[in-house]
Amino acid sequence: MTPRSPGPSCRRAVTPGQSSWMRFFSLFCPSIQADVILLVTCSIREKAEQAIWNRLRHLSALKAWRQQQAGSPLRIGILGCMAERLKEEILHREKLVDIVAGPDAYRDLPRLLAVAESGQQAANVLLSLDETYADILPVQTSAGGTTAFVSIMRGCDNMCSYCIVPFTRGRERSRPIASILQEVRMLSDQGVKEVTLLGQNVNSFRDMSEVQFQSAAAPGLSRGFSTVYRAKPGGLRFAHLLDQVSRIDPEMRIRFTSPHPKDFPDEVLQLIQERHNICKQLHLPAQSGSTRVLEAMRRGYTREAYLELVHHVRDSIPGVSLSSDFIAGFCGETEEDHQQTVSLLQDVRYNVGFLFAYSMRETRAFHRLQDDVPAEVKQRRLQELITVFREEAARANEAMVGQCQLVLVEGPSKRSALELCGRNDGNIKVIFPDAEVEDAAGCQALARAQPGDYVLVKVTSASSQTLRGVPLRRTTLSRSAACH
Ligand code: SAM
Ligand code: SF4
Repeated sequence: MTPRSPGPSCRRAVTPGQSSWMRFFSLFCPSIQADVILLVTCSIREKAEQAIWNRLRHLSALKAWRQQQAGSPLRIGILGCMAERLKEEILHREKLVDIVAGPDAYRDLPRLLAVAESGQQAANVLLSLDETYADILPVQTSAGGTTAFVSIMRGCDNMCSYCIVPFTRGRERSRPIASILQEVRMLSDQGVKEVTLLGQNVNSFRDMSEVQFQSAAAPGLSRGFSTVYRAKPGGLRFAHLLDQVSRIDPEMRIRFTSPHPKDFPDEVLQLIQERHNICKQLHLPAQSGSTRVLEAMRRGYTREAYLELVHHVRDSIPGVSLSSDFIAGFCGETEEDHQQTVSLLQDVRYNVGFLFAYSMRETRAFHRLQDDVPAEVKQRRLQELITVFREEAARANEAMVGQCQLVLVEGPSKRSALELCGRNDGNIKVIFPDAEVEDAAGCQALARAQPGDYVLVKVTSASSQTLRGVPLRRTTLSRSAACH
């Protein structure tokens, strides 16, 4: 995108006949500088797609305004899952869209832009079996950032009956470990203190790029879990990756998301327990507490197997913080099924939860099941799940009052410049006064904590989403681990 010189002053005259959006842009957005606007899209729920259709309506007015005012066209591109899913519809329904690029077509963007420059619509939605963008290191736009995400795999082979991901993101493939390690080292050199490994199923990671590991046996699944595909032998697995990544920088916290609960062999749990810089925080997406619904969802486990995994995880990693995803009102969900989900939330008591109403997508459930839970029932059940989740999370977090938590400082709190905000090992937000604190090494004068510092905070109060406390001292991740 080439920057443009700033546009004319805000006090532009509004000419008769301009649409209300044109008038809005004339008055309030006189300096739209971009030549190209690319929207990265998500298709997982209908709401996400609806937001893009709405945005396109606004952009249509902007595009017309820009052409009229600057005499040069504004190019608009739709990228990602919605492009993959709705290519034809986007191109035909929205004549203003110039570029449509699916999740595996980003390398083709320069060519697509060139085609668009010639005045034609350009599209590429080919899915790849091996694209991982391994050789493209992302540019960090926030200099001095404390946290970063690193993509380690793409796609999904699980085919849960409600989920669009396997269709928009394609087959599961992993990025070679060497390129992941290179990126994490670069982030460490830049001073980043926390890296989150990203993927649709991070713990199904399987790097097949090194020939000598291509026939290694497949690690077992979590007990009582199954898959719709046959065990995949060979490759370097998630435990190996986690081991290597966590050795790069002892002062860098490592997290990962989103894992699938089926892929938690003991060696992964042991590693998380042993390494001081791998956060004791696991996301275990359950989706439902009813075995009947889980079967309809094709999740490959029962309520009992899931609960057994939760107990095993808690035995293996004492004090682990748990989070989960739930869907309210899936096809055929009865009140009894819903109550089973309520009771699972109570039994497990998660620290963090992501709860959604079922949104029908063009998947197996669309073709074979009936979306028969009325919208208002879905919403009511969702609200009930949110209420129960919050009550339980508040209890889980209240148990931390009086404890000391190691907080990685991210910056000033949004609500008050007199407070700092950061996260504890369990990924829960912690707020504390921005006061001078001593250094744990004892060799420095009192100083204020900065973003990227680790501060030991004594928790004084808790809600379902936030902890508050008083700072005790600045320290390091390694020193803090040695004290425990
Ligand atoms: N791969 C992880 C797993 O299955 O364990 C979760 C990643 S998935 C991309 C993110 C979450 O979106 C899912 O866990 C699910 O709760 C939610 N989701 C997916 N499809 C949905 C749908 N059709 N309606 C509502 N929520 C949905
Ligand atoms: Fe979607 Fe996760 Fe199921 Fe894959 S495992 S289909 S990403 S919900």
